[in-house]
Amino acid sequence: PAQPVYAGELPEGLRKISNIIAVSSCKGGVGKSTVAVNLAYTLAGMGARVGIFDADVFGPSLPTMVSPDNRLLVVNPESRAILPIEYLGVKMVSFGFAGQGRAIMRGPMVSGVINQLLTTTDWGELDYLVIDMPPGTGDIHLTLCQVAPLTAAVIVTTPQKLAFIDVAKGVRMFSKLKVPCVAVVENMCYFDADGKRYYPFGQGSGSQARQWHIGYFVVQQFGIPHLFDLPIRPTLSASGDTGIPEVVADPQGDVAKTFENLGVCV
Ligand code: ADP
Repeated sequence: PAQPVYAGELPEGLRKISNIIAVSSCKGGVGKSTVAVNLAYTLAGMGARVGIFDADVFGPSLPTMVSPDNRLLVVNPESRAILPIEYLGVKMVSFGFAGQGRAIMRGPMVSGVINQLLTTTDWGELDYLVIDMPPGTGDIHLTLCQVAPLTAAVIVTTPQKLAFIDVAKGVRMFSKLKVPCVAVVENMCYFDADGKRYYPFGQGSGSQARQWHIGYFVVQQFGIPHLFDLPIRPTLSASGDTGIPEVVADPQGDVAKTFENLGVCV
């Protein structure tokens, strides 16, 4: 893979992190945070030391998706480093754990906040830092790529054909930033009910229909090596609300298996 384009010297707090994985989507609400959190816990379940950085300053999801006892970040008075919150063996930092944030911020302020949260945190030794990126392609993505050497990106999308343009935009952005996209996750592909499989955004069922799935198209067109389907599952939504990630609540389930395969490819 090409070398990432981060500028300057690697900040102290990031030096002991082996891999930084960006989980990204062009739109909000497609399941990016769900994928980021479950991917992180899957990697932890495989024995890796893992952190999650929630880079979505305007809509941080992490605080609702996990339920640590202590929900406020603490700063080490001597080193001035932020100490990540730890929950079920995964370290995490989110603007949502930083107390009362501002509701309105200009772009440069947001970039400053992200930069500070990411680089002044004492992450310790990590095998993986999973970054839950803000939706879209813009300023914050550029900031993150300049501050941190991203190892790989995972793109999350829903199966509508219309989403193709957005996904292509995301792939092109990462390619410009010299970050390889290793997988596309097509979330909310189908749901099972009454013994039947339904494709709410797709074209019926069967392998022919599969060819039309947007993720497949992206994988073909951009040479992204891996494509994963995630179904609509009430338990996935519930786990986002109860604070116990699905792959932790049901480690033998189908969803956990999908994430294990995704974990292997990042
Ligand atoms: P994003 O980070 O892209 O904004 P989220 O991961 O926050 O999206 O997901 C949006 C909402 O949809 C959350 O309430 C989440 O629990 C729910 N959700 C995401 N994926 C699924 C799924 N496959 N099945 C059921 N609910 C899902």
